[in-house]
Amino acid sequence: MRKKIVAGNWKMNKTVPEGEELAGQVAAGVSSVPAGVKLIIAPPFTHLSCVRKAIAGSGIGLCAQNCADHEKGAYTGEVSAKMLSSVNVEYVILGHSERREYYGETHEKLVKKIELALEQGLSPIYCVGEKLEEREAGKHFEVVDSQIREVLFTLSPEQMSRVIVAYEPVWAIGTGKTATSSQAQEIHAHIRKTLAGKFGALAEEISILYGGSCKPSNAKELFACEDIDGGLIGGASLVADEFLAIARSF
Ligand code: PEP
Repeated sequence: MRKKIVAGNWKMNKTVPEGEELAGQVAAGVSSVPAGVKLIIAPPFTHLSCVRKAIAGSGIGLCAQNCADHEKGAYTGEVSAKMLSSVNVEYVILGHSERREYYGETHEKLVKKIELALEQGLSPIYCVGEKLEEREAGKHFEVVDSQIREVLFTLSPEQMSRVIVAYEPVWAIGTGKTATSSQAQEIHAHIRKTLAGKFGALAEEISILYGGSCKPSNAKELFACEDIDGGLIGGASLVADEFLAIARSF
């Protein structure tokens, strides 16, 4: 059985006290979420230790939004996978389209980041997804395939078994435009088929999350699709009631 996951990407939002409050609200509401749905929250680096305390004992997973592509050393401003694991972070978002677009994250860098994260026992949430012009040109399958082949195909089956994939069409992130459930299901099924081409039956065990303007009003229809195992939620994860309502949509 694949894990059902709802992960909140807070991006660069909330001060530390605000983040502690939000995490406390999510933890207080976790009992309203169906058993078997894993909640994960991804605050900024500065918030991780406080948020860890606020969610202690709740079963909510703690996730970082990035990690360095080097183990340690003279890389001013970077945070290593080992540092994250030393504050009990369990997951790390890698390859988010905002990082690919604004911080020049290449496939080569992402392979390094994923390897270092896995070495430290972190589970990467690896994001893929096409831009609007790529979808309009009918290239979405091709784009996503190359994001998978050039990065995830470098992993061993054991490494791959610890990766979560998130399909996030760039045109749907923060825009209020959501992929329809049939568009999302079509590409999720394609991603699973691509993974099966390399990893065989393991592909059936990999959770593939949908991300892009997911909200309480559309989550039910998306999560009902066969190959959609949950969501990576941006804007709606900043309000505890909305985030929890999305998680109750299973
Ligand atoms: C995201 O950036 O991961 C995301 C899904 O954002 P939003 O839900 O705000 O579209």
